[in-house]
Order: sequence, then structure tokens, then C-alpha cells
Amino acid sequence: MDFLPINLRLRDQPVVLVGAGVVAARKARFLLGAGAILTVIAPEQDAQFRALGEEFSLTWQQREYAPGDLAGAIMVIAATPDRGVNESVHREARSLNIPVNVVDSPDLCSFIFPAIVDRSPLIVAISSSGASPVLARSVRSRIEAMLPAATADIARFGRLHRDRIRAAGESEGERRRIWEQIIDGPIAQLILSNRWQAAEQALAELLESHSTSAVGEVYLIGAGPGDPELMTFKALRLLQRADIVLHDRLVNPDIVAMARRDADKLYVGKRRSDHSVPQDRINELLVELALEGKRVARLKGGDPFVFGRGGEEIELLAQRDIPFQVVPGITAGNAAACYAGIPLTHRDYAQSVRFVTGHTKDGELHHRWEEFLSNTETLVFYMGLVGLPIICRELIAHGRSKDTPVALIERATSAEQRLLTGTLGSIESLVESAKPQAPTLIIVGKVVLLAERLRWYGSG
Ligand code: SAH
Repeated sequence: MDFLPINLRLRDQPVVLVGAGVVAARKARFLLGAGAILTVIAPEQDAQFRALGEEFSLTWQQREYAPGDLAGAIMVIAATPDRGVNESVHREARSLNIPVNVVDSPDLCSFIFPAIVDRSPLIVAISSSGASPVLARSVRSRIEAMLPAATADIARFGRLHRDRIRAAGESEGERRRIWEQIIDGPIAQLILSNRWQAAEQALAELLESHSTSAVGEVYLIGAGPGDPELMTFKALRLLQRADIVLHDRLVNPDIVAMARRDADKLYVGKRRSDHSVPQDRINELLVELALEGKRVARLKGGDPFVFGRGGEEIELLAQRDIPFQVVPGITAGNAAACYAGIPLTHRDYAQSVRFVTGHTKDGELHHRWEEFLSNTETLVFYMGLVGLPIICRELIAHGRSKDTPVALIERATSAEQRLLTGTLGSIESLVESAKPQAPTLIIVGKVVLLAERLRWYGSG
């Protein structure tokens, strides 16, 4: 992070603006809007300053800038067309340790202005650290669209009742929960629809009925195959409510980082051979944490109910009557197929698809291989990298042609995604030389041939 965003109180503070052109006028409006005592130094003023002068009070010193002008200021902006003047302003500001912004000269700025979405008292500031102001503005317009103008009223409502709400909750966690009920629930909706009185009444009821002895809740969340954009809205919303997040190796760290900053994050494994926390212990942990009143997000790669042991993890919760929700995720089979340009079904090539575990036990794979012989069915093997030689050997031994197309998709949806294609007869030797890394997914069937035709820029 090159710049730390902060919100600065400028009310009644002296600020100097050197220059009075169109860009300076824009900055002046921000500064005056934030209550600064503004001194503008410039021999001439753009017409916009007249309008500003009528709306706000500001001092214009009609002359060139001279060293010594910055004494006492808490912030300086230079916006003259003359690089030499801008540099002198910068030099003086630095020698006095006054934060300085020189318009259009990032090298002369000790601070920069972000793009702003103003729903005061809620303010959203977006900065690209000067790298791409146009990108920052584009993000701003997306956020603008997300936040109705009346969002400001929710913030004002919160400010007005902050002390009552603080008094109603006994712990930090409890207070947060009350706030969340206000912000995510009907009270916010009442405010947004301009029914302030009804909102106040609903708040009174909420604070009165609020019970202190809550059991927590567990969210078993499918986090998708890796690319954070493949999470669902619901997954994100519940993740951001959680007080603690349990995650394992398949979950992208960028997704874990989307949890609340103050939420605890607990890594619970597991690699093929390293089960950092054994499954039974994870199941118990979910119960214990929920009984402590915590909201627990259990993040699983892909979908929790596809080779995810999600069923086991919630069984104990169900037995103990602990509230839980299960959020489906995009399973690796779907994601890897799409990102490799391989449709799992296709009118001409595959009328069904089968998800199969390739996880070996004692070096063996126990399947009814005779069920896997249809030429019009796509087979998707999870956890199949180690067992690949067995899969190929058994399929061929039971009658599938050596020429049956096979795809192996390594780290699907990540920047490192790789696609290897071959046949049941050839894929093993391809794997030996390409040495793909886990996680990998194996797809068997004629649809694999389409990868070449349906190749797109994300398809590896
Ligand atoms: N619940 C998960 C699957 C867990 S089993 C899901 O629904 O996706 C773990 C296996 O999933 C891995 O061995 C691999 O075969 C597959 N897998 C998970 N993420 C993957 C990815 N990004 N790319 C390729 N395969 C992946």
C-alpha cells in the first residue's frame, strides 16, 4: 500500500491553495465543503471562484506565491500551470512537514485525493494510488449505483442512536449483532423508504426484545474452485458475518481475506497426507464454537456436498440442534470444464455426466468399473492425480478404447491453470513429463475433443 487512506477533519483549519484555475476551483469546492478556512493565492482567478465566493467565505490573495506563504497551514495544494511554482510550493511544504498535493504531478504529492462517493456521514473513498484515476472513477460509479442516496439516512440514524445501541449490547460481539440486525434488516428498509418514525419504533422493539444468551450459527459455505469471483453473493454475505472462519487448503487465501478483519481465521488442513486437524475434531469444533455464541463460517473448496465431507460436518450440528446453513458452491467439475472449454454434456457427444472419486485407499480404487463404459457419458474424476494410472488401466481393462479422450485440468480457474489433453492410452506419459500440481481434475469422454474448438482466453 503506497498511500494510507484517512479521513481528515478540516473544519476551521487553515488550508492554502496556490493557483485559481478550473482544477483549483474543483479542489477548492471540496475543501470548502469540508469546512476549511481557505486562502487562495493567485494573480488571476477563474470565473468559478466567483460562484464559490458567493457560497462560501474564502480569502483571495491576488498575487504570485512567495516562500513563506505556507506558514500555519495544515495542508497545501498547488494547482498552477507553472511547474517551477509548483516545485517551490512543494519544497516549502516539505520543509515545514505540511502535507502537499501538486495537481497532476504524483512525484510532488505527499497525499492524493481519492474519488469519493458522498453519502455523508458515510463516505467511500476510492484510490488507485495515482496509477489509474480513470479506473478509480469507474469503480466509484459502480459503488454510486450500489448505494442509494438514502444510505446517508441509515448512517445518520446510526449516529443518532449510537449511545442507546451501545448500552443495549453487553459485549462487542453482541453490539455488532444488533448493528447488523439494524443495517441488514427491516429497520434499514424503513429508513430507505423514508419512514423514519416507524424505524425508530422498530429500533425500540429490537433493543427491548434483544436477548443476550444466543447460540451462534454455522455457515457451511461452498467457496468455489479458487477464483474469488466464482463465489456466490450469499457465500460472501455470510462469510462477512462470521466471527470465526475455518478454512482448508483448497480455499484461496484471497477468499479468506474477504472475511471481517477482526474475525479469527483458523486453518484446519488438509493436504492428501497432512490432516492438520482431523475430521472428527473439525466436526466438534464447529459445535463448540457455535455454543460459545459465535457465528462460524466453515469454508469449503468447491461445493460442500461434492466430495467435501460437508454432510459429516453438519451431522453433529443437526443432532445438537445448532442452527446452520449450507451454501452451495461451484464445484471443481463445473468450473474446470468451463474454464477448459469442455462442455460436460453436449447433444452430440454426452447425454450424462458422472462425478467420481479418484481417491485411492491402500493404493487401490474400488469402483464398479463396468458402470463406466458408456461412450455417451462424461466421467469427471476428483482427487485422481495419484490414481490416474489405475483409472486408465481399469477403464481400458473393462473395455473402454485406449483412444478415449482425456483431459487433465490443473489448478483450474487460477492464473496457473494448465490443460493437458491426451487419451486413456497416452495421458500417463504426458503427466510424467508435465508434472501437474494438485489440485487437478480429470475429464474422460468425447467432449474433451471440443476443448480445441471452444478454446477461450481463460481456458489454459
Ligand atoms: N468440494 C470440492 C471437491 C473437494 S475434493 C468441489 O466441489 O470442488 C478435492 C478435489 O477437487 C481435488 O483433488 C481436485 O480433483 C478437485 N479440485 C478442487 N479444486 C480444483 C481446482 N481449482 N482445479 C482442479 N481441480 C480441483
